[in-house]
Amino acid sequence: MSTNGVVVRVPGKVNLQLAVGPLDPDGYHEVTTVFQAISLFDDVTVKYGPPNSGISLSVSGATSAGVPTDESNLAYKAAKLMVTKYGLSEDVAIHLKKEIPVAGGMAGGSADAAGVLVGIDALFELGLSRDELEIIAAQLGSDVPFSISGGIAIGTGRGDQITPALSRGTYHWVLALAGQGLSTPAVYNECDRLREGLAISKPQVGDELMQALRAGDSIALGKALSNDLQAAACSLRPALRLVLDVGKDYGALGGIVSGSGPTVAFLVEDDDKSLDLTVALSASGVVSGVVRASGPVHGARVVSTL
Ligand code: ATP
Repeated sequence: MSTNGVVVRVPGKVNLQLAVGPLDPDGYHEVTTVFQAISLFDDVTVKYGPPNSGISLSVSGATSAGVPTDESNLAYKAAKLMVTKYGLSEDVAIHLKKEIPVAGGMAGGSADAAGVLVGIDALFELGLSRDELEIIAAQLGSDVPFSISGGIAIGTGRGDQITPALSRGTYHWVLALAGQGLSTPAVYNECDRLREGLAISKPQVGDELMQALRAGDSIALGKALSNDLQAAACSLRPALRLVLDVGKDYGALGGIVSGSGPTVAFLVEDDDKSLDLTVALSASGVVSGVVRASGPVHGARVVSTL
């Protein structure tokens, strides 16, 4: 036993593209998505707990309000899965220091689950490969494998089958946060309602988007951003249209609802532009907070030992 605990830093994500296929008979949708991990991080600490304490969970940080600390937390489920699968002691203490918005379409819960998988692997010296961790991650939720891999990747199936994508350069983002989250299932239901009677084709990656990434061309990338859930998120939360308009007026290269929302992600040319838009959004009165981030960044990884 060489260490008492580990701290794993794990990023949030934006979806540069989210293409949603028709509703399957099993109630799910096939999706094709392009993820980018961005520099907004949760820190997940995994330590040995006192004897017979079981799995315990605590939460702090800027976005910790309303995050459950019981077995419904995805980080708890990740710990349970690992101790059961590898026959480990249940006495594990997890602490989440949250900076990723909750229910913001930025995969915050998935990030924490990924952090626990990587943390338990390191603490118990299981020696799992990234591929093995991503397979376990897929059992917890469709965004969890990407939270492990980070970078830029294409997600297919339910978004859980990850292929790294070629990309050049760094992209600057301004994120407009909403005071209240949106439920992912509610947004999918609204999407189905809005598309009722329409022929929906198989979701595919956009060629222009992939070309823009390969070239490191942020202007082209701004034009190629797309999200099939955006209309549904705006239908449930009409104020999002006003937020998107502020971005257009203040020179964003592109703006998009991130995943199922309600966070709106604006791509901007550089740090100066990002400051201008941050000020404009803060003054607009239509957002509850604004943060700046850049990507791509690494996936879940151990940053310190205790
Ligand atoms: P995604 O982008 O993957 O759809 P999201 O970012 O919109 O997810 P989360 O932040 O993961 O949403 O939270 C969705 C809900 O899950 C929250 O309302 C909360 O009740 C619950 N939850 C469970 N575990 C966590 C966690 N570790 N952090 C935040 N929320 C969690």
